[in-house]
Amino acid sequence: MNKTDKTGAVYLVGAGPGDPELITVKGMIRLNGCDTVVYDSLSSDRLLELAPRAEKIFVGKRAGCHSMKQEEINELLVKLGREGRTVVRLKGGDPFVFGRGGEEVQALQKAGIPYEVISGVTSAVAVPASAGIPVTHRAVSRSFHVMTGHTLSEEGTLPPDFPEFARLSGTLVFLMGLGNLHPIVSGLMEAGKPADTPAAVIENGTLPQERFVKGTLKTIEALAEKAGIGTPAIIVVGETARLDMQATVKQPLAGVSVCVTGTPGFTKKLISSLHGLGADGECVCRLGVKSYLDSVAVADAYGKLKEYGWLVFTSANAVRLFFEGLGKYGLDCRSLGHVKIAAVGRGTARELRQYGFLTDYVPERYQVEDLAKGLISAVKPGERLLIPRSSGGSRILNKTLDEAGIPYDDVVLYDVEGQWREKERLEERLKQSRYLTFASGSGVEAFFDGLTEGERKALDGIRVVCIGDVTARALEARGRKADVIAEVFSVPGMTAAILKDLMNPEEEKNGQIISFPGKRKNSEEKEGKDDGNDS
Ligand code: SAH
Repeated sequence: MNKTDKTGAVYLVGAGPGDPELITVKGMIRLNGCDTVVYDSLSSDRLLELAPRAEKIFVGKRAGCHSMKQEEINELLVKLGREGRTVVRLKGGDPFVFGRGGEEVQALQKAGIPYEVISGVTSAVAVPASAGIPVTHRAVSRSFHVMTGHTLSEEGTLPPDFPEFARLSGTLVFLMGLGNLHPIVSGLMEAGKPADTPAAVIENGTLPQERFVKGTLKTIEALAEKAGIGTPAIIVVGETARLDMQATVKQPLAGVSVCVTGTPGFTKKLISSLHGLGADGECVCRLGVKSYLDSVAVADAYGKLKEYGWLVFTSANAVRLFFEGLGKYGLDCRSLGHVKIAAVGRGTARELRQYGFLTDYVPERYQVEDLAKGLISAVKPGERLLIPRSSGGSRILNKTLDEAGIPYDDVVLYDVEGQWREKERLEERLKQSRYLTFASGSGVEAFFDGLTEGERKALDGIRVVCIGDVTARALEARGRKADVIAEVFSVPGMTAAILKDLMNPEEEKNGQIISFPGKRKNSEEKEGKDDGNDS
């Protein structure tokens, strides 16, 4: 249907206070089903990943960029609705708590665009809670009151009803008030609030970077200044700010930021494994596949399939593309009836099974070296090998086969290219993160090929985790030593390596091999459904 033939819908979805897992189930469903997301600066990009098919339109403020005025955002939402789009307007916290969501609804109402507001977890409640402060508590605080601290001193004065607000006995919560902390606390005291009333300031609540200070009306300003508390921040004043109900269950990787690189399948699994342990994992560079199915060398290989005794696959990508090519060149599985198949890794073997093929040889370990050595004894004299793989494939395979006098055709079937995610934020992210992960040599290549001088320098302060020696060697060739090498090529193996590294700070860790006890043989996944060490 032509987009202009129908009216779309706009969903105002509350994104929650920061921790991306605090979005509602309904918000998540709407994100998943929308075709356009309109968003401001979010505390987590992970929310955008919940809308994989959607066009993402940024309308927030970012350093050095023109930010859209509210009226322009309203107009944009109306325009998109008129085009027949299903839009999610993602807003921090709850859309109706100082989010100007009301103005957006009014604009949609006026234009007759269908809309729905999906409430979110507001920072006014969740941020104090994250710092251990309940906004109400039996016999301590029987109400809580949320106020903007932003407009307080627009003319340098407190609003006329401020003294009434100050006289309330419940918990006072100020949003957007950090810049006015001084007039707020002194105004409250002048209006009669005792100087020893508990107070807290919380920065980046519910996020790994969360920091807070707790004191009294008298001390809080100095405490916040000393700690260098910055925005976004919430000020809480009242007896409950004395309480400490912070979580006592600590996730092992809580507060640890990890920059992840690799294929979409692998990064998704690794990030979700890291999140499960409380870490903040984000994909910074994704590996995509560029096919060479049309090349002369590839066409030639398909033309003489009969001549090969073995097909050797070193990645699931290669398997997928190879079978795509079979159809493309007018062939089917019968043309492979005579061929034996070797594969590195479980992910590759699993992919082969999807096409109805078992493997004749899979090395014990999941490295190309082992495949090469194993092939020497498995291949019968005179049998020719076809190795369809990426141009970045390990040369060790060629060297070993050459030395053994085994004939083969090493054909470039695809290449792996790096796709940056928010490159402009990369340097900052690297500086803030504790780990950077690589799951394949091609991942290392793609990453380093695109680095600026500043980004390269930012690597100095980060611990680099590699899957296996081949990946670590690729890293070393780029002038950086691996700090941690996961010996088990899988998501659990890499997660365990990070955990172990974190828990043994006193050990000499450069290049240490970390294994995942008991799981070695059957936990191989490498880059999941995609490329592994030899991508
Ligand atoms: N609609 C949002 C509030 C928007 S106003 C909600 O319901 O949460 C933006 C203000 O919210 C910030 O200036 C800050 O005071 C507060 N805020 C939002 N997220 C925060 C966080 N993670 N930590 C501390 N303050 C936060």
